[in-house]
Amino acid sequence: MAHDAPQATGPSKLVVRNIGLLLSGALEKPILDADTIVAENGKITAIGRLKDVDTEGATTIVEANGTTVAPGLIDSHVHPVAGDWTPRQNQIGWIDSYLHGGVTTMISAGEVHMPGRPRDVVGLKAMAIFAQRAFWTLRPGGVKIHAGAPVIENEMVEEDFKELAAAGVKLLGEVGLGGVKDGPTARKMVGWARKYGIQSTIHTGGPSIPGSGLIDKDVVLEADTDVVGHINGGHTALPDDQIRCICEGCKRGLELVHNGNERSALFTLRTAREMGDLARVILGTDAPAGSGVQPLGILRMVSLLSSLGELPAEIAFCLATGNTARMRALDCGLIEVGRSADFVIMDMAQHSPGKNLLHSVQLGDLPGIGMTIIDGIVRTQRSRNTPPATRLPEIVGH
Ligand SMILES: [Zn+2]
Repeated sequence: MAHDAPQATGPSKLVVRNIGLLLSGALEKPILDADTIVAENGKITAIGRLKDVDTEGATTIVEANGTTVAPGLIDSHVHPVAGDWTPRQNQIGWIDSYLHGGVTTMISAGEVHMPGRPRDVVGLKAMAIFAQRAFWTLRPGGVKIHAGAPVIENEMVEEDFKELAAAGVKLLGEVGLGGVKDGPTARKMVGWARKYGIQSTIHTGGPSIPGSGLIDKDVVLEADTDVVGHINGGHTALPDDQIRCICEGCKRGLELVHNGNERSALFTLRTAREMGDLARVILGTDAPAGSGVQPLGILRMVSLLSSLGELPAEIAFCLATGNTARMRALDCGLIEVGRSADFVIMDMAQHSPGKNLLHSVQLGDLPGIGMTIIDGIVRTQRSRNTPPATRLPEIVGH
């Protein structure tokens, strides 16, 4: 388990060359015509053909050997607690395991599994500020964890949101996991959060574990959070007619999670697609939770939606990268000059019947991961968790 320093020391120039397929993360153009990426000091500086880009002075050269490069995957819904430990299933090293599943960025939906979690206003604010700081300082394997997501309680006033924002808190935990479970109160507090630049999400569907409650379509639509958290339930989903009402009744993000109802995820995908609203669909795992942790959860969602949802695989990857980055204003998630050099390098799994990586995912297989890169630094090589990739990238020069 590597607890890397988040930044490289000194100037760096990464060249990834001989890319067989370059996935952009952008719905409007999911495949790029390029075989080389250059990143300097952690940011993408050039994308193109090897002969056309400046590779002089590279400090690291990755020979992709014809494999697929995509933006590092983003898990829009995790419940971290402290460092790389989760008390929910009493597991350590789960974040590092996710990195081996291609996840380079995580968004907290609330640090709700903290033993003895404070529910009083001063205590919950302190915990949110602490979590934001702690997860930005300690990044297991280099994974970027956006945490510090307080769960709102009825006693909160506008000044509390202003204070949280001033202290660096940028997220709310799932509305509904605390004392606020009614539409009008949720709407008022979500409005305060938005006013101070704090993004919000909500627990959608039946109770997840003893102690949480039902949040139905009326509460979801009235609360008007930026993201409709696990619209496919966490795990118990709302009836299809309510899911349709939410899709049609607002323009907010529609989050599908691995720890949810898979049939409802496919129903939501179909509905959003019919509406021409695929850009609203983002992916998460909602882990750690009762269903455990899923290092390959985001890849499994991509494969599920592509195979059973009949979504071209290059589009399915956008739901786990560019869509989330845009909705959550992250500087990663897209292969674009100026963005963070966060990549996952993959190939078709050995012995998949697919013709290539995209076809194998459309058949329902998972890709094999050969390397992850965060901020232009190679973080992992062959994944210990995915099926082995057919071809592997390698570091050929420093
Ligand atoms: Zn939830």
